[in-house]
Amino acid sequence: MSQRTPPPSAEQQLVFLAKIQRLFAEGDFTATYKFALLISLADLAVELGADDGAELTLSIRQIAERFIQLYWRHATPYSTDKSGMATGILVQNLGAQATVITQISRFRSLHGVHTLPQARALKAYASLLTHVAKTASAQPLTYLQNFGGGTDPFIYEHGGPGIILLKAGVAYCLRRFQPLVQQLSRTHWVEHIKNNRRNGLVLGESRDLEDFLFSSSRQSLAVVAEGLRKLDGDRCFYCGHRLIESDVDHYVPFSLYPRDLAHNFVLAHSKCNRSKSDTLAARLHLERWLERLESRSDDLAEIGLKAGISADSTTTKKVAAWGYSSACQAGASAWLRAAQYDVAASGPWSETLKGVASAPSILSHGEYWDILRPLTASLDIWETIYLHALTGEDAVAQWASGTSLRPFLDALPADLREGFFAAYAAAMRPIYPRRADGTTLLPFRRLFIVAQVQG
Ligand SMILES: [Zn+2]
Repeated sequence: MSQRTPPPSAEQQLVFLAKIQRLFAEGDFTATYKFALLISLADLAVELGADDGAELTLSIRQIAERFIQLYWRHATPYSTDKSGMATGILVQNLGAQATVITQISRFRSLHGVHTLPQARALKAYASLLTHVAKTASAQPLTYLQNFGGGTDPFIYEHGGPGIILLKAGVAYCLRRFQPLVQQLSRTHWVEHIKNNRRNGLVLGESRDLEDFLFSSSRQSLAVVAEGLRKLDGDRCFYCGHRLIESDVDHYVPFSLYPRDLAHNFVLAHSKCNRSKSDTLAARLHLERWLERLESRSDDLAEIGLKAGISADSTTTKKVAAWGYSSACQAGASAWLRAAQYDVAASGPWSETLKGVASAPSILSHGEYWDILRPLTASLDIWETIYLHALTGEDAVAQWASGTSLRPFLDALPADLREGFFAAYAAAMRPIYPRRADGTTLLPFRRLFIVAQVQG
């Protein structure tokens, strides 16, 4: 093993983010390929990278495999369900249709396959992969790093035939900022398709385009639900109570990692699913989830196969580990909140606290963007992790008791309140240990917004 490369400094990370932002603002986007490439690179960094500053070698075929996943559904006709609108495959290039879409669509009809696992089982799939790899190499991989009138290879360089090399620190940044890269890419991707005049007849005023492009198909989720009921019984994964109607839930939230993996699904009450919303289910569930992933791995893979959803237990585990470590580092609020629900559900206070929710958090950066953009001439939003240096006993729990923990404390009578707070403080201690000098560090996300109104 070579020596561990240190992760990039905070300044280097900011430089990386600023360049990503410039790439979107100043790059040329003839087709949607560059968005697909950024999403693919971020996902591969999550799945294959590590939390140090090391370079990461990726094969162009790995990227092509991602392209096929991303475009698989896009190569089928889109319909708005509205009368008077045409049905057709959305055009994803400003000139002729994007080659990758044409290749996938031709492959689908030639072989009569509907799902990716079916496609992968065919011999001909290898040649589809080769074609897509050629396009990926000739187009987005060649041009992604051109912006602002020059070339700045800050993400990768070519590492030999069929190989690219993510530069030192890049895999780290992509893992760290994966949700942001995803969101930016998806927003621009949707806009690209909407702004392509040739899609006008098909799209109309359609609002569900983003769902069509990026969400799991309802059909396959229904197949997953049926399989999970057989496997796990009619029980909610989180609360253990009987299910009547059930939601198929992404254990690592879809908002964090928007890709379907069979091993990442559990059945849950929609109420339990919602209370978890976009935070990661707390540690209480993690062990049980990991245990189930190991012991039922083959069954889960089979459910995926039936539903046409990729199955890969190793990747799913890596994604979960990544999700937990980044939530712990960056989204302290997710941790603080997840533990609040855990503690609330297990103790003499659980009846009283049923239905109580953490104080609402601030909106996501994307939501602020959507609200402010129409009102402003220019808008800059950035996020940073501010390290609160807290002092005193159980400082993190004390800190939360003034904010997100408040509704729980308020709902309890004095005798239960004390026990509840003690249990919450105990849950926080191992996550945020007190340092030798008595300080407890709490990394907390802070959002900065600079908006200018035309004057
Ligand atoms: Zn439940």
